[in-house]
Amino acid sequence: MSDEIQVTEEEVDRLYKKLYREAEAGGYHLNPDVEQTKDLVRGILVNEKRYGYWNCPCRLSSGIKQDDLDIICPCDYRDPDLNDYGTCYCALYVSQAVLEGTQKLRPIPERRLPLEERQKAWTKPAVAGTSALPYPVWRCKVCGYLCARDEPPEVCPVCKAKKDRFEVFM
Ligand code: SF4
Repeated sequence: MSDEIQVTEEEVDRLYKKLYREAEAGGYHLNPDVEQTKDLVRGILVNEKRYGYWNCPCRLSSGIKQDDLDIICPCDYRDPDLNDYGTCYCALYVSQAVLEGTQKLRPIPERRLPLEERQKAWTKPAVAGTSALPYPVWRCKVCGYLCARDEPPEVCPVCKAKKDRFEVFM
């Protein structure tokens, strides 16, 4: 019996449309190559079924969510890669210039650090010192959105990353 994970075209279409809507509403753009983009969406869905989270379709999963938080789509590296190269690592998201054809897509380097180096960064606060504010300030690690409240929001209002992608900023 095959243990291959099945994803239907309806599931792919549904998620593709959702990501497209959310990207455009948040100032991002999906790759206009719909076939390639849907392949990546399919990869996200397979990873969701296999691991329980949206592991990046171009990166190996550890199978441990805590170790892979930075590569849950949209990953922590999307925005810096869009700024520097006009595309995220997988080319699921592209810049306005790539969308308009004035910048070409090309392979980009992996900026994710090895696990040991990432683990060292987890123990450091984002900003040194303590805050006199009545609430902690939370920072979305995906897009940098900041908010001051008891708990981070369930979903980032800008990039739609989930609550577990927030860190205490100050
Ligand atoms: S945004 Fe990050 S996690 Fe999502 S497809 Fe692109 S590189 Fe992978």
